[in-house]
Amino acid sequence: MNLYGLTLEKLEKYFENIGEKKFKATQVFEWIYQKREEKIENFSNIKKEIRNRLEEDFKMELPEIIKRETDVLVEKFLFCLSDSEKIEAVLMRHDYGLSVCVSSQVGCNMGCKFCESGRLKKVRNLETYEMVGQILAIEKEIKERISRVVIMGIGEPLDNYENVMNFIKIINHPKGIAIGSRHITLSTCGIIPKIKLLSDFPLQINLALSLHAPNDELRSKIMPINKAYPLMEVMETIKEYIKKTNRRVTIEYILLKEINDQMSHAKELAKLLKGMNVYVNLIPYNETNHIEFKKSTKSTINAFYETLQKEKINVTVRREFGKNISAACGQLRSKEV
Ligand code: SAH
Repeated sequence: MNLYGLTLEKLEKYFENIGEKKFKATQVFEWIYQKREEKIENFSNIKKEIRNRLEEDFKMELPEIIKRETDVLVEKFLFCLSDSEKIEAVLMRHDYGLSVCVSSQVGCNMGCKFCESGRLKKVRNLETYEMVGQILAIEKEIKERISRVVIMGIGEPLDNYENVMNFIKIINHPKGIAIGSRHITLSTCGIIPKIKLLSDFPLQINLALSLHAPNDELRSKIMPINKAYPLMEVMETIKEYIKKTNRRVTIEYILLKEINDQMSHAKELAKLLKGMNVYVNLIPYNETNHIEFKKSTKSTINAFYETLQKEKINVTVRREFGKNISAACGQLRSKEV
């Protein structure tokens, strides 16, 4: 097992099981996440025999960064995992600090037509330690601390529920990486049963829904998952989620030229969202070499934005990052496989 994959609770259980006091778990957490010690033998306030036992039971391995692409405010990292699979993460520099977009799976099975990640099917889920490792490896590489995490990289996080939740617990824990729950965002294409589960998750993280179309017909065309979890049912689930958690939900909407970016779509979207505690993040599409979709023009994006505003829907247009590098979700990896 990898030590980076254990929540504090699990580590406490481990110590209890080997007949030790559970506060040792906190000491270990402090070594790995606060002092960033990478060798168990250097956990100096822990008895030698316990360190030996830990070394027998655990590995401490971070994913290896094999490529780093740099643009003005954004960098992409390609990682090689221990089974040689590749994943990527993106670092963004905002005025308010550094945020990282992490991957949750190797590939993705959701099959969204516009998405580069979905072109390559899911190979496997990421283990918790491989998600924690993306953050630790980037921090080590750049020698700076990350203050926000978005789970919006390759993969569908709610299709890897348990590992992703444990990842969130570890990065959020005050004795761990200590990223506040309000600084953690999980993005999903709309896996209804898992959104329901998430509404009972004790940490108040942000939820983002990749909507991308205002009606079933169009959504099913570009997002096959809509056939399993249709739009109206997803919206009902989101309403329940908001009621239960009292949290505002982000609605992501990629603007695809002449597909979902017309005034009529904006009006339909406004109607769909009316009265809900949501805000819409309009995403200028990142074109890729392999996929036929095009980015909407600036004036169409503006008109869409203004239509939503006029309808009193909270809306922002996502800033574009990394135009000079392989910015589209999954693009760096897909060049390598
Ligand atoms: N599976 C999750 C999280 C990963 S995708 C989800 O669907 O939300 C993260 C976001 O990036 C989604 O909103 C996705 O639709 C969007 N995305 C995918 N490819 C993109 C591209 N080429 N340009 C802009 N956004 C893209």
